[in-house]
Amino acid sequence: MLLFTPGPTAVPEFVRVAMAGETIHHRTAEFEEIFGETRELLFKLFATDEVIMLASSGTGAMESAVVNLCHDTLLSINSGKFGERFGKIAVASGLKNIEIKHDWDTPASVDEVVEAIKANPQIDAIAIQISESAGGLRHPVEEIAKAVKEINPDIMVIADGITAVGVERIAVEHIDCLIAGSQKALMLPPGLSILGLSSRAIEKIGQGKGYYLNLASEIKKQSQNTTAYTAATTLIIGLRAILRHIDEGDGFGKLYCDTARRAKATRFALEAIGLHSYPTAPARSMTTIDDNDASEIRSLLKSDFGVNVAGGQDHLKGKIFRINQMGLIPINEMVWVVNAVELALAKIGRREFDGTASRIFNETYFKTMLNREQK
Ligand SMILES: *Cc1c(COP(=O)(O)O)cnc(C)c1O
Repeated sequence: MLLFTPGPTAVPEFVRVAMAGETIHHRTAEFEEIFGETRELLFKLFATDEVIMLASSGTGAMESAVVNLCHDTLLSINSGKFGERFGKIAVASGLKNIEIKHDWDTPASVDEVVEAIKANPQIDAIAIQISESAGGLRHPVEEIAKAVKEINPDIMVIADGITAVGVERIAVEHIDCLIAGSQKALMLPPGLSILGLSSRAIEKIGQGKGYYLNLASEIKKQSQNTTAYTAATTLIIGLRAILRHIDEGDGFGKLYCDTARRAKATRFALEAIGLHSYPTAPARSMTTIDDNDASEIRSLLKSDFGVNVAGGQDHLKGKIFRINQMGLIPINEMVWVVNAVELALAKIGRREFDGTASRIFNETYFKTMLNREQK
């Protein structure tokens, strides 16, 4: 079965092999060296002043960011399940939460964020997804962050990049906390989350808040290549393998470029067979299609063509399906996926199969490559 859900994503074989060794103790020189090298590679990926790894799923990093960086009122952007989660974390942590809410296909605008901040001077942090995975949309986070900082540079900007870090280059100039998670764009099993922090964020964290998720204790330890509590050693070994592979290979630039081309080719291919892209501003992390037959298409993909794609949650259950674009995806697999969607449409009698999806995919993906090589 091909795993094409936008998290968890498929783990490349060389990463699984790297993680297959004996468990090593985390308080050893051997592990400190691995940790140190992984940290260096993460600095390249994040381009932030500090990076912290936590043994938690992505939500743990979201909670640690909110608890440590917001002391009064959080402005959370809810265009989906994950944006909604930031608000829930704030409330559960005894903070006040002001929410900007949209349909799951609609990103936030700079103007409405500016308006909310001007109207509520007690807001001391804003939390937003870069790519909101619930409907596969891209928020204009960089522009929003810049506008927020122009109003008040002390307002912390928390950007959930769980389906964005490793997908595209993120301009971190105005971002104080950038979050990633192991099982999405980083192609690892679940259980590790990462936070990139600005020096302004480190200042605000001070002595930190909470206990396990207290970022002050982790900053202190991790700058010495160790962790406050037991490190997720195996996942960190896997992370080093994946980051090394990209860094020593074609680099992150090539990965971002391939991902963008693949996402575009997939969307064009599916639109060419009459399907509709759900978000008004699609993220590159996934291709999201809204369709009345979404459930049927999804189950046919699984049963007849060996492809596992994700459905929708809450009110979008049975209404959308989401195809992953994150990671080192073999291009032949992606062509098979769009072809399988076209076959599924033929099976339910929606259109006659004529190979349009794979043709449009190939044209879109490979023509640009050939054109570039000929120049
Ligand atoms: C998956 C995801 C999360 C939550 O991560 P968990 O690892 O499930 O805790 C948060 N934000 C986004 C955008 C995600 O895609």
